[in-house]
Amino acid sequence: MSQPIERESMEVDVLYVGAGPATLASAIHLMNQVAAFNEAAETRGSRPIEPPTVLVLEKSAGVGDHMLSGACMNPKAIAELVPDFENQGFPTENICNSDWLYLFTNKHALPVPAIFAPPFHKRGYHVISLSNVAKWLGERAEAAGVDIYPGFAGDEILTEGGRVVGVRTGDMGVDKDGKPKGTFAAGMDIFAKVTVIGEGVRGTLAKQLIERFDLQGANPQTFETGVKEIWRIDPKKHKPGRVIHGMMLPELLKHKFVGMFMYDMGDNLISYGYVTGLDGESPHTDPHLEAQKFKTHPWMRNLLEGAELVRYGAKCLPTGGLYAQPKLYHDGAMLVGDSASMCNAARLAGVHMAMKSGMLAAETIVEALDAQDFSSKTLGGYAERVRGSWIYDEHAADRNFHGSWEKGTFFFLQNIPLTFVTGGRGLVDEIGVRAGHTHMKKLSELPPNEREKEAFEFDGKLTFSKEHLVGFSGTAHEADQPSHLVVADTDLCSTTCAEEYGNPCESFCPAAVYEMVNDTESPGRKKLFIHHENCVHCKTCDIADPYQIITWTPPEGGEGPDYTRM
Ligand SMILES: Cc1cc2nc3c(=O)[nH]c(=O)nc-3n(C[C@H](O)[C@H](O)[C@H](O)COP(=O)(O)OP(=O)(O)OC[C@H]3O[C@@H](n4cnc5c(N)ncnc54)[C@H](O)[C@@H]3O)c2cc1C
Ligand code: SF4
Repeated sequence: MSQPIERESMEVDVLYVGAGPATLASAIHLMNQVAAFNEAAETRGSRPIEPPTVLVLEKSAGVGDHMLSGACMNPKAIAELVPDFENQGFPTENICNSDWLYLFTNKHALPVPAIFAPPFHKRGYHVISLSNVAKWLGERAEAAGVDIYPGFAGDEILTEGGRVVGVRTGDMGVDKDGKPKGTFAAGMDIFAKVTVIGEGVRGTLAKQLIERFDLQGANPQTFETGVKEIWRIDPKKHKPGRVIHGMMLPELLKHKFVGMFMYDMGDNLISYGYVTGLDGESPHTDPHLEAQKFKTHPWMRNLLEGAELVRYGAKCLPTGGLYAQPKLYHDGAMLVGDSASMCNAARLAGVHMAMKSGMLAAETIVEALDAQDFSSKTLGGYAERVRGSWIYDEHAADRNFHGSWEKGTFFFLQNIPLTFVTGGRGLVDEIGVRAGHTHMKKLSELPPNEREKEAFEFDGKLTFSKEHLVGFSGTAHEADQPSHLVVADTDLCSTTCAEEYGNPCESFCPAAVYEMVNDTESPGRKKLFIHHENCVHCKTCDIADPYQIITWTPPEGGEGPDYTRM
């Protein structure tokens, strides 16, 4: 489109990007805090704050529709936000009353009570569907006067003189050649005094903000991909309140970071998830395949005998913790939740931290509204609040988790128990790490027997191909639009990448989006075909590509997976 586009614009006081636990908790807390401030002001006879206009943008068609998590949630943040949440219809599936760490060999499963494995001690935690929790929070936010626009993706941060002044939403109704269709609607410019970015993992705007203003912390962020399936199992095997995490000893000894979780939900459903580190050496790393293979373990096979698959999806989570935390604020902007590395990968727990970070951001916004100062000077109070909160204590206690792993399995097994008794320090503090994709080896650097990807036959009953499983994610994207997966140099895919790495995108994408097909114009050569309609918004490709030439961008607002009950 060559002519300049006329855009509508609007102004709000506070703009949140993403309707996740971080931003929704923040918006609710903000409204509560403003009301409390004004009540106190009335008593004191001092100046009240003008009730702020607050808007939340969410790329999914409905709040919670793109939400995928485990999830076994530490209830401390929700109890601070809504003290009587349990009497207010909070959608708890079960409360954990039995927690285990399973050590899996190829054939056997050794259950260890979680009391001996502190990170997996989850008694009293709530097993939830994060999708349902987001809907519940969204209703509360709207009741408090917050506007939520589902189906609107933030596409670009707007800046003025080095200050963030808002967000541009994505254009709608553009065809695959980039031309406007009859349904064309230009994205809107939304200006705000403060923009709070809570897009979850590897956010588009968070990435722009961190890169443009050089906000990245000491270490680069690192990631895992979690593949999740919901199954309806035999009622006789269903045990409400059971929470299991598992480590695979053969993989651990090969220094492959993988792990599983299994939580009993309501209605005889279980949440099964398998996480794979995106810092492996093999270009064949395939989170979907790992999740399928593990279901053939005798323990899983027995659990799933006679069970029915209900849902499939995938999403990354940040694992870098405290040392990968970006600067949390900039003039006119703040980062909350996963976008701000508020996730504890050692405990597979981020929901409570996301909510608390949002609440601390809200308290800072109240100060900024009172002072009418949205510069770093006032917004920096957020970082101080985080530093003085339980988020920091929890993060600090596990600050060397990922770094220990990077130093090798032997070091990891020695150092992690030491971190438990040294307040997180262990043998070495502030272990430097490398971005995950830099660990990937070229095919020529692998032992000859590892150069070919292993063959695996999906049986169609317990294990399924990516193409089949995508149907269980409910994902949908208009075909006639530019691909939202932007590959900067597709020639490189056909030449250098094919030769050096064997096109790892075909492996690491859990939704069969990337396919090297015969290039009819150049016989003997393959070219990249992108099935963008299949994308489940996990962000793995944006992270794991060894050349870093894939950029995940938001598709048209409202498109993507349907993660109901995930
Ligand atoms: C497989 C897996 C298992 C997990 N298990 C657990 C667990 O058991 N317990 C636990 O506590 N934590 C768990 N976590 C971590 C937890 O889910 C996250 O830490 C938490 O969801 C982060 O919340 P958030 O609000 O920052 O982001 P999210 O929950 O990711 O929400 C972000 C929202 O922003 C929207 N969005 C993104 N980009 C844009 C954009 N540009 N414009 C508009 N909207 C946008 C998304 O659609 C989404 O709705 C798990 C994570 C994964 C992936
Ligand atoms: S294209 Fe990228 S974001 Fe989409 S499912 Fe595949 S790896 Fe995930």
